[in-house]
Amino acid sequence: MSGEAGFRCERCGAPLDVSPETIIAICPYCGYPNHISGTIDVGDIWIIPSKTQAEILRAFQDRVRRDIDMRMIAKDLEIFDVEGYYAPYWVGRIPVKGYVEYYRWETETRGKQTVRRKKHYRGHFDKTLVVPLSARRQVAEFGVKEAVKHFLSTEPKARRLADLSREEWEKIKITILNTELDRSEAEKIVREDACDHMRNYYASTADGIEFFNCDSGEPEQLRLILLPLWTVYYKYKNAVYRVVFTGWDARDVAATEPVTLIRKAAYLAGAAAGPFIAAAGFMSHSVNTIIGALIVGVILSYGSAQALLRGARVERGG
Ligand SMILES: [Zn+2]
Repeated sequence: MSGEAGFRCERCGAPLDVSPETIIAICPYCGYPNHISGTIDVGDIWIIPSKTQAEILRAFQDRVRRDIDMRMIAKDLEIFDVEGYYAPYWVGRIPVKGYVEYYRWETETRGKQTVRRKKHYRGHFDKTLVVPLSARRQVAEFGVKEAVKHFLSTEPKARRLADLSREEWEKIKITILNTELDRSEAEKIVREDACDHMRNYYASTADGIEFFNCDSGEPEQLRLILLPLWTVYYKYKNAVYRVVFTGWDARDVAATEPVTLIRKAAYLAGAAAGPFIAAAGFMSHSVNTIIGALIVGVILSYGSAQALLRGARVERGG
């Protein structure tokens, strides 16, 4: 598609591919982020530099060698595609404050009698949550949920995109998926998500909520971060499988794999099936559930809230 009305890069003058939806156009030649429309500050766009395709392929080979089942079929595997891209995510810290009243059914023993009682609880909360939000409107690609989790736990170093030289860009450049949510939209959604998250946390630990109120504040350090992800596609016995790697440390975070006879036996024994069930579940879910699962998977919080919120659920209509 040809660009609209001749947009050119502010830094190097190269022509930019711009559509009516474009918020930022990242120059393919020098990597400079050009602001086209919507609310976004070029200085708030950060990138996690990616490893090269060769390094990702080496990580794939290591993975095959490490895995006993994969090693057995290694000579029949054929890599036929490797794709790398940056996925844009809004990441910030959202302060939430509120008040909740809820109840739980609890059993008590009095002498020889056991009675069930409805016990009431109340509490204030005042926390800061990290709520990553995909800056794209469509359902995330396979493996992205796991990659974002890994991102939050490894905290890789980010660079301000506008500060990268053309040479630096050249070394780390792969496709950049379009950003479709600008800052004001993102801010609104993450603030809602943060309160939904608190409500769902209490809903998951209580038997019922009687009162809930929550105010979320202006997000702190809200940045658009470009996360590098790679997918290696390979063939085995005429079927296609894939492994997703995070671009900053070449960690394999998600995979579909041929199930060998040995592993099938393990399934039946009820062992080692966990990761496979999780992966299969993720693929077969409906769109809404995937979005829900994504948010559940990626919300973490700082300090004490981290333990408190683990396993809480957030559902959002999409
Ligand atoms: Zn440029």
